[in-house]
Amino acid sequence: MRQIDHFLAGGSPAASRFGDIMDPNNGGVQAQVALGDRAVLDKAVAAAQAAQPAWAATNPQRRARVMFNFKALVEKHMDELAEMLSREHGKVLADSKGDIQRGLEVVEFCCGIPHVLKGEYTQGAGPGIDVYSMRQPIGIGVGITPFNFPAMIPLWMGAVATSVGNAFILKPSERDPSVPNRLAELFLEAGMPEGIFQVVHGDKEMVDAILDHPAIGAVSFVGSSDIAHYVYNRGVAAGKRVQAMGGAKNHGIVMPDADLDQVVNDLTGAAFGSAGERCMALPVVVPVGDETAERLKAKLIPAIHALKLGISTDPEAHYGPVVTAQHKANVEGWIQKCADEGAELVIDGRGFTLQGHEDGYFVGPTLFDHVTTDMESYKEEIFGPVLQMVRAKDFEEAVALPSKHQYGNGVAIFTRNGHAAREFAARVNVGMVGINVPIPVPVAYHSFGGWKRSAFGDTNQHGMEGVKFWTKVKTITARWPDGSPDGGNAFVIPTMG
Ligand code: NAD
Repeated sequence: MRQIDHFLAGGSPAASRFGDIMDPNNGGVQAQVALGDRAVLDKAVAAAQAAQPAWAATNPQRRARVMFNFKALVEKHMDELAEMLSREHGKVLADSKGDIQRGLEVVEFCCGIPHVLKGEYTQGAGPGIDVYSMRQPIGIGVGITPFNFPAMIPLWMGAVATSVGNAFILKPSERDPSVPNRLAELFLEAGMPEGIFQVVHGDKEMVDAILDHPAIGAVSFVGSSDIAHYVYNRGVAAGKRVQAMGGAKNHGIVMPDADLDQVVNDLTGAAFGSAGERCMALPVVVPVGDETAERLKAKLIPAIHALKLGISTDPEAHYGPVVTAQHKANVEGWIQKCADEGAELVIDGRGFTLQGHEDGYFVGPTLFDHVTTDMESYKEEIFGPVLQMVRAKDFEEAVALPSKHQYGNGVAIFTRNGHAAREFAARVNVGMVGINVPIPVPVAYHSFGGWKRSAFGDTNQHGMEGVKFWTKVKTITARWPDGSPDGGNAFVIPTMG
């Protein structure tokens, strides 16, 4: 059986513990991944410590050149990477390419890293005194990533961390670890020194070893909220800089004046694309007013029936299987729960089977209406192809619903009314807002981050926020006196008087 090892400078030690990588299209186990421990991490950290000072001392333009080379290599290997990604994740090939492309856009941002690393300078802050600041790398940083974006999220973190001069160790999801290893190989081929981008695999044991390791200065985590919270608390208690992004339950508000054909098109993609396994999916739709709800529902039902499920390599498929049998059971459990809680089950996706792939982890698209805010199935993230309709009586209620939800990752409003959109964007208590944009994942040179239980810590991913996270600021105050005595009192706190 295919085995995936750690990707360490100097080779990977033999593993004694393995995890199964399932085959979402067909069921069963397709490969095994090494599950590492503190000893494996120590090896990675030692290699990182050996390589990082010279990398940090390499001028930023040369580090940027590695990013340019890497971008070209990933583009050259796009088909191979997408196929590898789809095979383990289950998302369709076009969507895997999107996953890789969104990661590459962060690499493109990092091609300009010399520009963003320029510090600040004040000449003449006092008599003969100049003040300047510089951004220096943390040293060794770690990224712990979820299964649902095995290319994009490692690159959010790893491209920024390394281009500013850190050594980076990636601990990807143990459910789809092949693409992260391949990205590490391509970084080496692009000219990155050994030890600067390494991959350790593992589960909780490895994550705990990372959080407790004294040589690791920063940890960036993306995954579910309870684990994000745990990682944040334990990492901060160990004195690390930590950013930890969590789960989501994004709402799509549909105003009475919205273009409903466009909304249905956007909504089906955002709710069911990638089988709903996106933290920026739209699993809750909020039509404003019963009349809007009825018109929307009438258009939504045939559109959902027209969706095509298929294996991840089927070019006709809108979406593929979910990632594991366990996750399929979870999603189907939530469908049952939502029905038991009294919502109207309009389309039931349970029991879907694909001919020739009867053991694949497929869940058909599911639609609920009359979901209410007291239902557990509304409060919690389902992370599957399930769309819940929560009717709002007016605009105020539509602003309040996502604002009061425990998660605050993304939200979208569909309207032709600029004033309503502007008011909504200003008032809603959520980190990323789309106006007639269903999945408002910010471009690479802005930054990504939710609010409330969708993110712990105060720094977002990529863009300048990412640069801030992976660097520390040093400020230098320099005095070059002209030789005449300054007559100041050395026992008083200096001021620029
Ligand atoms: P997960 O929380 O199960 O796993 C994330 C990482 O944590 C993995 O590397 C995993 O190995 C590790 N991990 C798992 N259990 C652990 C434990 N008990 N202790 C320590 N570490 C542990 O998440 P997932 O299922 O891989 O990904 C889906 C989740 O990620 C969803 O909740 C989704 O909303 C969220 N997500 C959030 C964002 C965001 O930016 N906010 C982006 C993508 C995904």
